[in-house]
Amino acid sequence: MTAAPTSVVSHNPADPSEVVSDVPAAGASAAGAVERARAAQPGWSEAGAAVRSTALSAVGAAIEAASGELAALAVREVGKPLTEARAEVARAAAIWRYYAQAPYEPTGAVHEPAGGPGLLLTRRRPHGVAGLITPWNFPFAIPSWKAAPALAVGNTVVLKPAPEATACALRLAELVRRAVPEAVFTVVPGGAPEGGTVLATADAVSFTGSTAVGGLVTRAATARGVPVQAETGGLNAAIVLPDADIERAAAHIASAIAGYAGQKCTATSRVIAVGAALGPLREALSEALRALPVGDPADPATVCGPLVSGRARDRFDRVLPGASVLAAGHVPEGPGWYAAPTVVEKVPAGHPLLTEEVFAPVAALLSADDLPHAVRIANSVPYGLVTSVHTAGLEAALHGLDRLDTGMIRVNAPSTGVDFHLPFGGTKASGHGPREQGRAALDFYASSRTYTLTP
Ligand code: NAP
Repeated sequence: MTAAPTSVVSHNPADPSEVVSDVPAAGASAAGAVERARAAQPGWSEAGAAVRSTALSAVGAAIEAASGELAALAVREVGKPLTEARAEVARAAAIWRYYAQAPYEPTGAVHEPAGGPGLLLTRRRPHGVAGLITPWNFPFAIPSWKAAPALAVGNTVVLKPAPEATACALRLAELVRRAVPEAVFTVVPGGAPEGGTVLATADAVSFTGSTAVGGLVTRAATARGVPVQAETGGLNAAIVLPDADIERAAAHIASAIAGYAGQKCTATSRVIAVGAALGPLREALSEALRALPVGDPADPATVCGPLVSGRARDRFDRVLPGASVLAAGHVPEGPGWYAAPTVVEKVPAGHPLLTEEVFAPVAALLSADDLPHAVRIANSVPYGLVTSVHTAGLEAALHGLDRLDTGMIRVNAPSTGVDFHLPFGGTKASGHGPREQGRAALDFYASSRTYTLTP
């Protein structure tokens, strides 16, 4: 058995020789962090709505005040293009402010007894310690959209971030801890061992990451009988009808394929042209993809930066053979883990591009005879996160809304893009458990109690 790493090291994906963060792994202290969080939880829960609301607002303000520095850190540590990094940080601040209202909202309802005097009440109560296990691709927004609702309803939080995003998580923790008491929010840097500790000890587990690890996390938490939610991978389709504005659809799809080098769970990886849409879409998409700015993530014009790791680029290289390249963007000179935005066609059935999430800027162009055929293709994979439908007609849009088996459907918009005040999540292998974000997120972090009061 190999010993667990004692340090957690992250590199700049645009220049892997640069070490961005090198910190000790939490190791055995991860269990202590959960215990301290458990000891702090009653005080945090009983401090009252005003304290929690003020703290969450303060975190939002602190993130906003540090936004330039945080965006620059996301550029350096996870290769996020600057414009997207700025948008992510702004969203993280907005998420904390949004959930700052939640402590004041009703936590239950009052009912009349079926017979006799008295009162029946329901009330939402926190679980205790919320264990958060997060990926690297949204290093500020994902920890924020889990931690803010968890704290709002009175849990304390232990966050195990992905090793690739350790510096971002530690910086976020500094800002949160300015606003909350000791041990209410703790980061345990590390990898699977620390994740395993959180999984084995927290009172509820919220996971975002790959489908494989999500399955493992779900099974482990379920075996312990603790609430679990897992938001996992996607193999998302874009359906283009002949009546669509093809240029606009191509621009949306190109950005959904290659924005942030395709490293979003909502990225488009299958493009399904219906009937006569194929010819014009083939051309427009090729052109849009070739024109997409690829390069230094610190440049605000960049849309497609490097992949997060050498391992990710190897996976991209391995998946291309067997398909015919229709169009590819350029790869910049230099040391970064870059991959050319690519669209392939004539992809044989069963090819990994049609069955697995690659998490890189690549998509397969497919054709369908008609809309029902396109929907069947879109639904034919084990994943079910998001589909985009591009059409001028309400009829096709409604057909898609009724029959596509994905947690989210976006009409005339890229598959990427998140409205944090609405529930977010997938079906099938893309998600398990209650939804994240919006008011739905609050339900996951609490359980409902029923009280009977009689005179
Ligand atoms: P990942 O490899 O599954 O890792 C996610 C987190 O789980 C990391 O913190 C990871 O740490 C930890 N982990 C790994 N093995 C573990 C174990 N045995 N026990 C406990 N924790 C463990 O995913 P990733 O590469 O970071 O992120 C990319 C994936 O996230 C993609 O599949 C993407 O689709 C998905 N994603 C989904 C959503 C969504 O909302 N649906 C949003 C963003 C990303 P280590 O790496 O150290 O093992």
